[in-house]
Amino acid sequence: KKVADRYLKREVLGEGTYGVVYKAIDTKTGQTVAIKKIRLGKQKEGVNFTALREIKLLKELKDPNIIELIDAFPHKGNLHLVFEFMETDLEAVIRDRNIVLSPTDIKSYLQMTLKGLSFCHKKWVLHRDMKPNNLLIGPRGQLKLADFGLARIFGSPDRRFTHQVFARWYRAPELLFGAKQYGPGVDVWAAACIFAELLLRRPFLQGGSDIDQLGKIFAAFGTPKASQWPDMIYLPDYVEYQFVPGQPLKTLFPMASDDALDLLSKMFAYDPKARISAQQALEHRYFSSGPPPTEPALLPRPP
Ligand code: ADP
Repeated sequence: KKVADRYLKREVLGEGTYGVVYKAIDTKTGQTVAIKKIRLGKQKEGVNFTALREIKLLKELKDPNIIELIDAFPHKGNLHLVFEFMETDLEAVIRDRNIVLSPTDIKSYLQMTLKGLSFCHKKWVLHRDMKPNNLLIGPRGQLKLADFGLARIFGSPDRRFTHQVFARWYRAPELLFGAKQYGPGVDVWAAACIFAELLLRRPFLQGGSDIDQLGKIFAAFGTPKASQWPDMIYLPDYVEYQFVPGQPLKTLFPMASDDALDLLSKMFAYDPKARISAQQALEHRYFSSGPPPTEPALLPRPP
């Protein structure tokens, strides 16, 4: 059955935050694609048009480390987003016990993540929902960020009705304190959590609730002092936490190099204003000194 006279639907790939994802063939190019069907449900009529207009902007967001949005169109009350098809994702790589990730493999995955982030941040687009299963991996090992900008257009998904509770583990402290105005730093924090997860091979800060998430963050890095993060006390959901000292990064990540730990600490800066940007992170000596990142084609991946 053809959709929009162009796409031949194949099997369902999975159920995502916004709806079902299908594999399909683009009969115009012969390319395999992934079509994300977004339910527009109870929203007001105008939303469809607003969403569509904003989605068109995302089509201009082209970078080797961003999933390409090939097409976007409404069909039978659903918005269909057509993306290039990707083989696997970083979550599958991290979870696969048969895969060994060397320090240069980790460097390569982090570098590709930051390149994608830096590109979008330069265009003032935030991701807001970075997590390992949103980092897709192509046939030549290229890592590409998926779902860029969607969180802003469609709103943060209602996590009560999805399996997406895990995204909490990647949330920056300013979001957990209810910040309404936030910037690219939220994506950098999430990238730091992913960096940590690549090193540990398990999610680093696994909070069971938003309050617990802050507790886990503070237990790792110490309760932030006003001097470290002056604006913290003005955040809408700010509450004072009992002081805990935190642990040295070297203890938390005994296997990481000093350069890796220095970059990690700068990505995990509490104050979003003091947090390193994706571009600055790419210029950090972690990437320029020591063994270079593994070529994407040579990265280990699940069978
Ligand atoms: P979530 O909202 O949970 O991040 P998605 O909506 O992004 O999930 O995706 C749902 C499923 O579809 C996942 O299993 C994912 O692996 C798959 N998928 C999403 N995008 C692509 C793509 N471009 N290529 C191949 N599979 C994809």
